[in-house]
Amino acid sequence: MNVRLIAVTNPLFEIQNEKLDPEGLIAYCARVSSPHQENLDYEKLLAYCIKHRHWSIFEMVDMTVEIITSRAISPQILRHRSFVFQEFSQRYAKVQRFETYTPRRQDDKNRQHSLDDLDESDKAWFGEAQDEIRALSEQKYNEALEKGIAKECARMLLPLNTQTKLYMKGSVRSWIHYIEVRTDMSTQKEHRDIAEDVKKIFISLFPVTSSALGWA
Ligand SMILES: Cc1cc2nc3c(=O)[nH]c(=O)nc-3n(C[C@H](O)[C@H](O)[C@H](O)COP(=O)(O)OP(=O)(O)OC[C@H]3O[C@@H](n4cnc5c(N)ncnc54)[C@H](O)[C@@H]3O)c2cc1C
Repeated sequence: MNVRLIAVTNPLFEIQNEKLDPEGLIAYCARVSSPHQENLDYEKLLAYCIKHRHWSIFEMVDMTVEIITSRAISPQILRHRSFVFQEFSQRYAKVQRFETYTPRRQDDKNRQHSLDDLDESDKAWFGEAQDEIRALSEQKYNEALEKGIAKECARMLLPLNTQTKLYMKGSVRSWIHYIEVRTDMSTQKEHRDIAEDVKKIFISLFPVTSSALGWA
């Protein structure tokens, strides 16, 4: 799995001698104006807020994940501007690894779509092409570093499948919309796989919200 849970907001107080979970905290904050703020039952409340698009309550809890992917996919992830990120710096550190991908056929009708029906021989050709490019670019990259060329310049010799690592932190609200958009078939498969992994983590941490969204 290339996605790992790093952190989630946890409340530091108890209600009726019970420690709140992150969803309990969302509900507690949502009930700020209610005389029943200490109500520990929040299933209907969260479902109501989702139904009526009262999204801001889901901004009270954050989740951070670690994602390992390629430099082809990370710019798509970084476009989700409501999140905050830290990404591996190719200016500061030497690149160590490359991702290997299985190709798909270009869809004739939709320019941003691909189909998984390529011949095995074309898949094998693509695999060999990746190996060749990786070997050459890695060799030239290492040669450039040995010549004292700065990492920020040497990296120009690297392909888009160069591996990268990111930390991505956002509110439950942002994660809901990220998962909706990036598990959709319109998203590139390599990014969709990441979003599906994020979704599994999200469902385990936020089962009531996930159920109200029809995910669990
Ligand atoms: C299939 C696909 C193709 C793309 N093609 C291009 C392209 O060709 N060129 C390009 O520059 N970019 C492209 N993008 C990127 C896209 O335009 C956005 O920049 C990217 O998806 C980030 O989304 P966002 O701005 O909503 O950021 P986010 O951080 O995901 O969302 C911003 C805020 O909006 C809220 N929000 C989002 N959706 C909802 C909702 N439904 N209801 C309520 N609140 C919501 C979030 O909670 C968050 O607070 C593409 C994206 C996709 C999925």
